[in-house]
Amino acid sequence: MLLTVTMNPSVDISYQLDSFLLDDVNRVEQASKTAGGKGLNVTRVAHMLGMDVTATGVLGGTIGTFITNQLTADDIKHDFYKIDQESRNCIAILHEGRQTEILESGPNLTEEESRGFLKHFEELLRNSKVSVLSISGSLPKGLTADVYRKIISIANQQGILVILDTSGSTLQSILDDPTIKLAAIKPNRDELSAIEGQALSDNPEDWKEILQSPRYQNCEWVIVSMGSKGAFAKYKQDFYLVEIPAIKVVNPVGSGDATVAGIAKALDERLLPAELLKSAMTAGMLNTMEESTGSVNPNLFDGYYDQVQVTKQ
Ligand code: ATP
Repeated sequence: MLLTVTMNPSVDISYQLDSFLLDDVNRVEQASKTAGGKGLNVTRVAHMLGMDVTATGVLGGTIGTFITNQLTADDIKHDFYKIDQESRNCIAILHEGRQTEILESGPNLTEEESRGFLKHFEELLRNSKVSVLSISGSLPKGLTADVYRKIISIANQQGILVILDTSGSTLQSILDDPTIKLAAIKPNRDELSAIEGQALSDNPEDWKEILQSPRYQNCEWVIVSMGSKGAFAKYKQDFYLVEIPAIKVVNPVGSGDATVAGIAKALDERLLPAELLKSAMTAGMLNTMEESTGSVNPNLFDGYYDQVQVTKQ
């Protein structure tokens, strides 16, 4: 079973406007509201790909209820730690081919709430057969990377494979902790460049040296996703270039999260390295072909899977 962790979920609201008037009233006829946050995109795609998946994390208030109601309506299992504070709304205003975003930072968690979540998480692991854990997104205010470190340590002790999809100093500090073991990370090129604090060349061959550094030695898979160019990956000491076919992209948002779902599926099924890369890329591609974020058509999976080319470098 896959357990997904989303520490700061949101209701993602999208307003479609012909024009956006500043300092005036904007009336909206087309509004969509969905349970969002990177971890919930992973959850939805994994569910659509047929995985047994449960979503956990921290939420609260009427927004938290909206999120759990929507997961229930989609037939997705969830078991969140509830807090007294409201979860957040994230608003995207789509106007004149542009996107203006208003993102709430969400609740400010206390020490007690942080401890409460960890207890909840341990109980969840005790009561279910989790084989793969995916942790996605940034942390809410009040929490530090230490929470992710504790979650991963607990999973490591139980032999659960961990995928961590976060960025910046949180990812950096986890990677630099020699006691932590990760099954996979999936930075995109900008995220890898940010961890390294240097611009990366356009040639993935040049990234080999970086990926061989001690920082990545406790992480079995480092899959650097490159949008329409596929990915460059390290598995243990081997490198792979992954090429994907040209496809008609409808909405690429959330493709990284879909890719994580594809990795989780392959880890759960103990697939071979080339098969894992094909599963990851296929899930990402299928997400770009759908209008809604964090959504795939599973009937197209096999056809695109066969078109992904993996070359050992
Ligand atoms: P996001 O932040 O939007 O979730 P990301 O930057 O983490 O995405 P990307 O590298 O953009 O991740 O995309 C992940 C995978 O999704 C790619 O490796 C590829 O398989 C697929 N993908 C994304 N964009 C495209 C595209 N334009 N054409 C084809 N496949 C794509």
